[in-house]
Amino acid sequence: MTGVSHSIVTFATLFVATHNVFIAGSATLGSLFPDRSEGLFWQSSHRSYSHWFVLYVAALAFFWTPDVLSVTGMQVWQAGIVQMMRLFFFWFFAGALLHILEDAICGPVPFLYPTKRTTVFPRLFKTGSVGECLFVIAYCAIMYLAAGRL
Ligand SMILES: [Zn+2]
Repeated sequence: MTGVSHSIVTFATLFVATHNVFIAGSATLGSLFPDRSEGLFWQSSHRSYSHWFVLYVAALAFFWTPDVLSVTGMQVWQAGIVQMMRLFFFWFFAGALLHILEDAICGPVPFLYPTKRTTVFPRLFKTGSVGECLFVIAYCAIMYLAAGRL
């Protein structure tokens, strides 16, 4: 999935789920992290350690606090910079984890071993294809309908 599609799908998912722009924005930035972190090694190591879910689950456990799911914008500002950064990184890595899930529907990703990619879900489209564009549009339509029911 392209970076633009990751951003749109992640923002739509978390905004509909939480109605919180701070959470959705943090996760959107995080959704770009797995591909961007590969940097110059993109050609040789695409979708290896950077796309291994275990690292992001560990990061979520590290940054988790009991109030990560119930935080409001005002609470974030009142809690101070350390707590705000902790929440930012929790949702940032949640977005990175969503990136892997989003990649898993358009190709193999590491599952048990970070260097061995596995087909987890059936491939719904090729990255950068018209199919991906249609998927993103349909996904946003579903999120729009879901938002009306939440
Ligand atoms: Zn990726």
